[in-house]
Amino acid sequence: MDYRARQRRLAEGVEAQKLKSLLITHLPNIRYVCGFTGSAGVAAIRGRSGRRQLALFTDGRYTEQARDQTKRARARVITTKGSALIAAAEWVGDGARKSDAVGFESEHMSVAAHQALAKAAPKIRLKPTSLIVERLRMVKDAGEIDQIRSAVLLASQVFEAAIGDIKPGIAENSIAAEIEYLCRRMGAESMSFDTLVAAGPRSALPHGVASSHPVPSRGFVILDFGVILGGYCSDMTRTVHVGRPSTSARAMYQAVLEAQLAGIAAVQPGIKPAEVDYATRNVLQKSGLGRYFTHSTGHGVGLEIHELPGLRKVPKRQDVQQRKLKRRIISAEVLEPGMVITIEPGVYIPGKGGVRIEDMVLVTEAGCEVLTPTGKDLMVI
Ligand code: ZN
Ligand code: ZN
Repeated sequence: MDYRARQRRLAEGVEAQKLKSLLITHLPNIRYVCGFTGSAGVAAIRGRSGRRQLALFTDGRYTEQARDQTKRARARVITTKGSALIAAAEWVGDGARKSDAVGFESEHMSVAAHQALAKAAPKIRLKPTSLIVERLRMVKDAGEIDQIRSAVLLASQVFEAAIGDIKPGIAENSIAAEIEYLCRRMGAESMSFDTLVAAGPRSALPHGVASSHPVPSRGFVILDFGVILGGYCSDMTRTVHVGRPSTSARAMYQAVLEAQLAGIAAVQPGIKPAEVDYATRNVLQKSGLGRYFTHSTGHGVGLEIHELPGLRKVPKRQDVQQRKLKRRIISAEVLEPGMVITIEPGVYIPGKGGVRIEDMVLVTEAGCEVLTPTGKDLMVI
């Protein structure tokens, strides 16, 4: 991981917001800028261009780990007895002028932490910022792409091994347990999120966390899971059918598959994420299933399971006025080579069942590369 390049881009981002310094409180962002993986700490960047300094504030439990992990990032490690956040604020405030604004990550600071900070360091002019580091994280470097590839392959191998367990009468929980056990056995640090196994009518739940319900003798089973490897997440969904699928079940599967392929075909640098969403949604609308596609087409994946960019529908005009921030996010972003996103349209018919197919895709100069190797023809069990 090229931390110097990341810090250079971070410094540019900080300057673009007219800030002299930034407090970084979100742990994945801290990991991204300096490599620290502990569960408590605050990173801070200060100083003018060319003379930027990065420091990591943490407590005594993490002194050794922090020194070791941040060596390559050349971050200064400062162990604090009290609040790391207040120590970081004092560090960035040291020698700063009264007019200098200190940025903080508004998505990742509680009201209580903000109040404590304002009280402990009243001379500092705090300024909320939004998603500065998250935007840098959208485009992955070669090392990150390698890690993501490994995480994707591991999950795909586990899928192949786990489908043998899907039988009528088996509880969803039991299938999820087998998947998670195999993932850990094969080297995963943990799962990216709670494994979703949704069988029969429960497959109509877009976020069907595995339950004690058994797999029925006939119907769809959605499996959605991912692993974390080297800090990076993977995410895949496949839908299989237990028993002989009806004509309408086949048609539903085919429509989702076509929508997913249309989404992949739309991915290329320079287009807005909403255009990929349009591509999948359009296919499902033409199949008469558009109203059952109730979520966005996909999301970025990296150190976190849900990252920028979001591949969502452009909000209608009246929604835009209510959600100006979202409009900024949507209109400012185009897909760029190095982004890793999911393409995961789905259709969910209450009482009947649902289908979702999800791959991870790397945006390349020429278009995209599908990272998930698992086949997508309807698998009948
Ligand atoms: Zn997923
Ligand atoms: Zn996903």
